Amino acid sequence: MADIKALLAESAARHSHLCPRQVLGVRAGLLGLAIFGYQAPLDNKQIIAIAETDGCFVDGLEVATRLTVGHRTLRIEDYGKIAVTFVHATNGDAYRVSPRPDVRQTAWEYASEESEQYAAQLHAYRVMPDSALLYICRVELVTPVEKIISTPGIRTICDSCGEEIINERSVSRNGLNLCRSCSGESYYHIRPDEQSEYFSLLTNSANTHTDAPPDNSLP
Ligand SMILES: [Zn+2]
Ligand SMILES: [Zn+2]
Repeated sequence: MADIKALLAESAARHSHLCPRQVLGVRAGLLGLAIFGYQAPLDNKQIIAIAETDGCFVDGLEVATRLTVGHRTLRIEDYGKIAVTFVHATNGDAYRVSPRPDVRQTAWEYASEESEQYAAQLHAYRVMPDSALLYICRVELVTPVEKIISTPGIRTICDSCGEEIINERSVSRNGLNLCRSCSGESYYHIRPDEQSEYFSLLTNSANTHTDAPPDNSLP
């Protein structure tokens, strides 16, 4: 049985405070691993979590599961929702875990000594049974799990911008191999007045990289 208190302390330390969403993240994380019969830390990449928000919830999720963006075992699809789907990396089985819609009200039943909603949630979300707190729904991924994981080591060059694309994230359009930006899915536009690089914005010369060694390194 996981030590929820220790996990919450770890989440709070990285987050600078403890809030109900971190508790939900810890509880959802523990439940997600349990669905597949695992406990953290996982010894390889059997499980991938896809969180539907960033922020506090994800801090709790990470400490409970040890799934991370850096290990490519945690992904964010930002729908602005407190929910996470756990996917088995080998067979693609997927379960979406979310708080029950009435959870804020139910929390009062588990925190009778609290008078404020925030404190009631903070307490109740730790102690409520999984079945009162969370909802599990079996789902099927639109993008197959092997495509999400992709083939490590594959690199291609975008035919439009010339930048390197890793993890098979290129897109085929009209016979061209394009990065997502050049294919029209970009999250940014280059400003029309763009003229040059912006190293002149760095006023602190210590931040400015030059190929020459600093003077004090000369003999
Ligand atoms: Zn928070
Ligand atoms: Zn490109």
